[in-house]
Amino acid sequence: YSAKSDRNRFQFFRRKFSQQETKRRLVEKKLKVAISERHLHLFFQPRVDMVSGKIHSVEALCRWDDPETGSIPPNIFIPIAEETGLIHELSQLVMQMVCQQLVDWHNIGIDVPIALNLSVKDLKYFDLVQNLGAIINQYGVSGKMLEIEVTESAAMTDVVNSVKVLNQLQEFGIKVSIDDFGKGYSSLAYLSQLPVDSLKIDKYFVSRLSPNFKDHMINHNIIKTIVSLAKSLDLKTVAEGIETPNQYNILKALGCQMGQGMFFYHPMPADQLANLLKREARLAKSTVNQ
Ligand code: C2E
Ligand code: MG
Ligand code: MG
Ligand code: MG
Repeated sequence: YSAKSDRNRFQFFRRKFSQQETKRRLVEKKLKVAISERHLHLFFQPRVDMVSGKIHSVEALCRWDDPETGSIPPNIFIPIAEETGLIHELSQLVMQMVCQQLVDWHNIGIDVPIALNLSVKDLKYFDLVQNLGAIINQYGVSGKMLEIEVTESAAMTDVVNSVKVLNQLQEFGIKVSIDDFGKGYSSLAYLSQLPVDSLKIDKYFVSRLSPNFKDHMINHNIIKTIVSLAKSLDLKTVAEGIETPNQYNILKALGCQMGQGMFFYHPMPADQLANLLKREARLAKSTVNQ
């Protein structure tokens, strides 16, 4: 152990740190361009009624295909957007793209509500309500066709403000759901005060329902508890990340009302979703006519 090796180690960390810094700055720079040139687009994942199997609504998930780097996942670029303040422009763009999509689908005879994800920074953003209201008017869409997903920790960060903002959104007819429920630290006292319509059970619990997890019964019971909590607060439950028939069967038996995940459908581009909904409508019609 010597001063020299200490120095080397320090050099190593410094280099490593600055590499990360450089990468982060590069992503930030590229993201700025991607937002202003509208290189971001949306994928849509159906949210399915657990009993009928019908598509109830869809969740919009942001995608970024960089010409040089390839596709960059939201788990990478959303946190960077939040740290750098770019999230407001990104959310603004997402809200516009979602409303445009509602119009485009409506024009071809498809009316399916879209849920979009907002960040904690958006909730604190003073103009969110006014902005979204203006966009809805501009595109001529009904608030009833929109749902907002905010994470548990986002909604709990400043409860007084969240209650105010979410209430105003609900006045437009917009539904509100708490995303990744169970993952954060939720105060049950606050949860009952929040104006929300549904809880989205975090996919962590769903993923550990299979019997090869030692704690699968614990996860089973946690989900059971969330469903009964939701019922007593008069909220709907949506399970995310359902991948297997076993997970689906358990969640259905526990009374979870809606589900999303690869077991049903992957997130997909808008035209693919339109085809899927057209097929579903044709199928429903032919069953009625039989
Ligand atoms: P989230 O809102 O909880 O979305 C669910 C994530 O689970 C999505 O990841 C989705 O593609 C993925 N998923 C769907 N089915 C399955 C499945 O069967 N198994 C598993 N393991 N995962 C599944 P994605 O699209 O990579 O998005 C990650 C997160 O990034 C989202 O989590 C959301 O928090 C955030 N995000 C995505 N789009 C936006 C956006 O437009 N704005 C904001 N603020 N955040 C966004
Ligand atoms: Mg979500
Ligand atoms: Mg989620
Ligand atoms: Mg999540």
